[in-house]
Amino acid sequence: MDEKDCLFCKIVRKEMDSNVVYEDDEVFAFEDINGRAPVHVLVVPRQHVANLEEIGALPDRVTKRLFEVASEIARKLGVLDGGYAVRINNGKDAGQEIFHLHLHVIGGKRLGMP
Ligand code: 5GP
Ligand code: ZN
Repeated sequence: MDEKDCLFCKIVRKEMDSNVVYEDDEVFAFEDINGRAPVHVLVVPRQHVANLEEIGALPDRVTKRLFEVASEIARKLGVLDGGYAVRINNGKDAGQEIFHLHLHVIGGKRLGMP
C-alpha cells in the first residue's frame, strides 16, 4: 500500500472528508468514523508509515508529537480528568485495518482491556 492508495493519506490530503480535530505540518487528527466511545479520535503522522515496524522512518520529533497531540486532544475534548486510552492496533491479531500508523484516542466512558 503506497501513499496514493492509502485511505488515511487521502484523509490527510483532504481528498476524503473527515471531521478534523487537529492539524499541523506534521500531525493530523480526525474523528473515527465508527466511534466506539464518546471520544474516539485517530491521530496520524502526515508522512505515510504503515506500522510500528516502519516508525524509524519518522523524525523523532514527529513520533513525540503524536503523543503530545493525543494528550492535547484529550484536554480539548474534556477527558483529561476522567482518563483515556491511547491504542495502536499493530498487525492482524490486533485487528489493524488501515496500514497507516495511527493512535486511537478513546475516552468518555469506562474502558477495559484489551
Ligand atoms: P485499526 O486499523 O486500528 O483497526 O482501526 C482503523 C480505524 O479507522 C477504525 O476504528 C475505523 O472505524 C476507522 N476508519 C476506517 N475508515 C475510516 C474513514 O473512512 N474515515 C474515518 N474517519 N475513520 C475510518
Ligand atoms: Zn498513508
